[in-house]
Amino acid sequence: MEITTIDAPDHERVVEFKDAASGLSGFVAIHSTQLGPAAGGVRMRTYGHPSEALDDALRLSRGMTYKNAAADLPLGGGKAVIIGDPTADKTPRLLQAFGRVVQSLGGQYWTAEDMGMTPADMAQIGTETEYVAGLPDGPFASGDPSPITARGIFNAIRVTARHRFGSADLSGKTVSVQGLGHVGEHLCALLNDAGAKLVITDIDTGQTARLADRFAAQAVAPDAIYAAEADIFAPCAIGGILNETSIPLLKVGAVAGGANNQLATDADAQRLHDRGIIYAPDFVANGGGIVNVATEILKIKDREAWVGQRLEALERTMDRILTRAKVDGVSPHAVAESIVEEKLHPQAA
Ligand code: NAD
Repeated sequence: MEITTIDAPDHERVVEFKDAASGLSGFVAIHSTQLGPAAGGVRMRTYGHPSEALDDALRLSRGMTYKNAAADLPLGGGKAVIIGDPTADKTPRLLQAFGRVVQSLGGQYWTAEDMGMTPADMAQIGTETEYVAGLPDGPFASGDPSPITARGIFNAIRVTARHRFGSADLSGKTVSVQGLGHVGEHLCALLNDAGAKLVITDIDTGQTARLADRFAAQAVAPDAIYAAEADIFAPCAIGGILNETSIPLLKVGAVAGGANNQLATDADAQRLHDRGIIYAPDFVANGGGIVNVATEILKIKDREAWVGQRLEALERTMDRILTRAKVDGVSPHAVAESIVEEKLHPQAA
C-alpha cells in the first residue's frame, strides 16, 4: 500500500492511496479538524481522470466542514473518494484496504456511507478500522439517515415559509419536490401530513406515479419541475440544479430542499436573491443526516433526545440565517457561510 501526502492549500491533510494487490486507489481529504475529528462519507465512482477525483474530495470535504459546523457538531470536515465502478470493482479486499487507509490516519478522519456505498460495505471497512460509522448493526449503529434528514428539511421548509409567507403553517401551501428517493419520499409524507399540496417529479417514472397516487400529488415531467407553480421548491435529487438556466424559470417564493450543492455557483445565490426568492442554504437544511451519523461517531446513548435537540438547534440556525439575510439585504447562502466562518475563525470575527 502506498499512502502519499499531497500538498493542497486550504486543507489540513490530503493523502493519495494506491494498493496494487486489491486495485484500491483514491484520496482522503481532511479539510479541517478544528471543531473535532473530520467526518464525511466515502464515495466510490468512476472518474475521467484522477485529478477529478481529487477535486471532488477537496470540494466535498470543505462542504462537510461547513455542514458539521452549521449543525453545531464537534466534528470537522473530511471526505474520501475511491476511484472505480462500485458495481464492478468493489471487493471485500478493496474495502478492507480502504479500512487500513482510514486507520492509518489515527482518528483524524471518520468515514461513513456516501454514493456507491452501503452499510454492508461499512462493515467490511470496519474489519480494519474503528473510525467508521454507518454500520448495519452494533451498539451505536445509526441506520438509514434519510428519515432524520427529511425531518430537518421539513423544519427548514416551515421556517422558510414563515419568513416568506408570514406563517409556518403549510396547510394549503404547494410544495414542488424534485427527487423521490430516500429523502424525497419521507419529505413528501411529512408535507402531506402537514396539509401541503404536492407537485412531484423523478426520473424514475414508476416512483413518481406511485407517490402521485399515495399523496394525491400532481406529477410532472423532470424538466417541468422548475416552471411548476408552487409556493416552495424542494430539490431532493442532484446538485447544481439552481443555475442561470433554471432560476429564471422558477415560479416559487422560496427554495428549501435536501440535495447537496444545489447552487451551481455562488453567483446563483445572488440570482435567487435578486429575484426575491428566499433560498434556505442546503448544508443547513440537510444537516439532519450528519446529525444522525454523529450519534454513532460520538457514541450517544440517548439517541432520540439528542437528535431532537440537534434538529431544533438547526431550525434556530436557519431562522437566524434568514433573519440576518433580510436585515443585511444579502443572500442567506452568504450569511450561512459567514456564520460558519465565524465559528471556525472566532478571533477574526
Ligand atoms: P436517492 O438516490 O435515494 O434519491 C435520489 C432520487 O432523485 C432518485 O429517486 C433519482 O431517480 C432522482 N433523480 C435523479 N436525478 C433526477 C433528476 N434530474 N430529476 C428528478 N429526479 C432525479 O438519494 P437520497 O438519499 O434521497 O438523497 C437525495 C439528495 O439529498 C442527494 O443530493 C443527497 O446527497 C442529499 N442528502 C441525502 C441525505 C440522506 O440522508 N440520504 C443526507 C444529506 C443530503
